[in-house]
Amino acid sequence: MRIFAAYFAHETNSFSPIPTNLESFRELGIYRPSGDTEFTPESAKGAWHFFEEAQRRGDEITVGLCAHAQPSRPTRGEDYRTLRDWLLEDLQEAQDELDMVLLFMHGSMMSEDCDDCEGDVLQRIRELVGPDIPIGLLLDLHCNITEKMLQHATIIKACKEYPHTDFRDRALELYDICARVRKGEVQPSVALVPVPMFGLFQTSLPPMRPFIDSIIEREQQAGILSISLGHGFPWSDFESAGASVLVTSDGDPQLASSLAQSLAHEFFALRESGQAPAANIEQVLDEACSVAEGTVVVADMSDNPGGGAASDSTFILQQLLARGIRDAMVAYVWDPGSVDLAFAAGEGAKLPLRIGGKVGPASGKPVDLEVTVEHLRRDARQAHIADGTSTHLGRTAVVSAHGIEIALNDIRQQPFTPEGLVACGIDPWKRRLLVLKSSHHFYAGFHQRAARILYCDAPGTLNRDVRQLPFQRLRRPIWPLDEVCSDTFAGIVNAATG
Ligand SMILES: [Zn+2]
Repeated sequence: MRIFAAYFAHETNSFSPIPTNLESFRELGIYRPSGDTEFTPESAKGAWHFFEEAQRRGDEITVGLCAHAQPSRPTRGEDYRTLRDWLLEDLQEAQDELDMVLLFMHGSMMSEDCDDCEGDVLQRIRELVGPDIPIGLLLDLHCNITEKMLQHATIIKACKEYPHTDFRDRALELYDICARVRKGEVQPSVALVPVPMFGLFQTSLPPMRPFIDSIIEREQQAGILSISLGHGFPWSDFESAGASVLVTSDGDPQLASSLAQSLAHEFFALRESGQAPAANIEQVLDEACSVAEGTVVVADMSDNPGGGAASDSTFILQQLLARGIRDAMVAYVWDPGSVDLAFAAGEGAKLPLRIGGKVGPASGKPVDLEVTVEHLRRDARQAHIADGTSTHLGRTAVVSAHGIEIALNDIRQQPFTPEGLVACGIDPWKRRLLVLKSSHHFYAGFHQRAARILYCDAPGTLNRDVRQLPFQRLRRPIWPLDEVCSDTFAGIVNAATG
């Protein structure tokens, strides 16, 4: 078989203070077959899963554009179109006698003039390859699945786990289903039920864990090809944002529809209990201080760069200082200016630094400290949660004051594992308190040794109370902005393409 694959992803937060342009994608590396970047797992990113599977099967594969940026505001219109057109050019180069197209996108990408970038890309690919070539789309579960995506993709699958540790498994399943469609062995019949809610549903914990396990089991049912939950992305402001259930059957629209409806109601029933309990800063620090032994991990969910926050808020740091809490570490505070100064001063130097609080009101006030520069690293890296590849953390400066260490860096990135801290000479498990700027992805690499994990709903860009945000274009009603009756679900969309 001849396959074209690409990776083009951005989780767009309509309310993020961070702008997004071509440079934002260049910061994390752009691969094109015609470019100078070597083709490696790091440069191919999510498309590597498709490449590996093609190698294993002896298929011929061309990997086109591979590009993603850290979550932030809608991408500058012109820059989105440049990246999209690069992907389409790469496809046209590879198009002769193609058997299928496999794409890895986020599912919540917006540009300044396009609300549904995934739908736009799919439509243009469909126009190029025609109606008979299967197009498979792999999504992050924080996706807003639209009718346009459904109309132009043959199979859509989202990852099932949050933290997203299962992209490889889902990529291989998507590959297999698309190959079977191409050979005429199966005929996908797709049902989508939008669920009028959004939230951060953590699949490591009950009651989401048993729900996901039951979905994995129901996916084995005769006649079912795939089941995906789209959790929606709660900071997307456009009409089709929100959760959804997507069921693909083998030629049985009735089966797909009835299962999607029933799962949509089960998912909706978990809208409150499926989210991890989060408390305010005072409650979280009270509880953290009550733990006698071991390291307590506090998730600063509201300042997670992986959701579009600046990662430079100081609300928790200010409270640590005010309470005189020592033996604590905060990671990572995105503060390129302070990193410059720490590097200029050198390891062991003492200097005044104005830390964090730079980007806007959601970052709080900067904190002035006399710090000691403890460790400097130019090449700290960590394994990425999505594909295990090594991800650059930028220059990292660990500074300390009043018994608190602060890991400053100059590439916005949440801590997925302790690896980046260890690279800076820190043993995080010797600290009493670790404050991590991450909503939940940290869990995959930190939960094994944490004495307790506490989710903190501090002020900030990703504060969980989305009712405070100035949504303008969202389809209403939607929970938690509105009260929703479970019998008000929108109708089912059926599609049969490819
Ligand atoms: Zn996600």
